[in-house]
Parts: sequence; C-alpha cells; structure tokens
Amino acid sequence: MNLNIWKKSVENIEKEMALKYFKLSEFESPDLPGVNNMCPKFLKKLDKARAIAGIPFFITSAYRSPQHNLDVGGVQDSAHTLIPCKAVDIACDNSINRQKIIGALAEVGLTRRLGIAKSFIHTDDSPKTDAIWLY
Ligand SMILES: [Zn+2]
Repeated sequence: MNLNIWKKSVENIEKEMALKYFKLSEFESPDLPGVNNMCPKFLKKLDKARAIAGIPFFITSAYRSPQHNLDVGGVQDSAHTLIPCKAVDIACDNSINRQKIIGALAEVGLTRRLGIAKSFIHTDDSPKTDAIWLY
C-alpha cells in the first residue's frame, strides 16, 4: 500500500469512528506505527467517558505487540496484547482526577476490569475475569 492510500485509510477510519477526543495514533504499539488494533466499540465508550470526566485522558499504553509488552514488563497474557484490543492505561496521579476518571468509566460500563496504580488507571473490557487490582 503506498503512503497516500495508507494515510487516506487512517483518515477514513478516524472519520468513521468520529472520536471527539482521541487520535488512533494514541493507541498504537510504539513499535508498530500506523497499525490500529483497537476495538472500535471500546474506543467509542472511552471517548464518551472522556467527555463525561471533563479532563484530558492521556493514554500511556493501549495495544502492545507481544515484543513491546515484553519490553515494558507486561504480564504474559496481558489484555493489552489481545486483538481487537480493549485495554488502555490512562495517566493519573491524584485522587481528584482518579475519581473523575473512574466515575466516568463506570458510567460507560468500563469498570469490569480496573487496575489502579499511583500514576495511572488501567481499564479493559477483555474476556478475562472481572477484577479490580492494585499495582
Ligand atoms: Zn494496562
């Protein structure tokens, strides 16, 4: 695929998804630029949660290639590696924003699987067991 056709297809996917707050590039594995492995329905929910929260969602990790997952020390069967990917980490380092983010995720039904760290919140909607964990 030549570069212009590729750019066009990324633009079309973005237009189709009509995400208000995110670019698809925010969800790429750093070693696979231009490759979107995210679940569109999951991204729509996340976009809605971002609107509800009313604060920026800075995505620190989303889809990870198996190699990138190894590089960042992710667990072997990480939800970040599943395709279509329904997992993100959202930067968050204070209690007020943590409440805004988790409250908004709850409103869109994305609190089945939550991981809470001092500096980020993980959410995923993978088929794995419902759970809330700490890092
Ligand atoms: Zn995560």
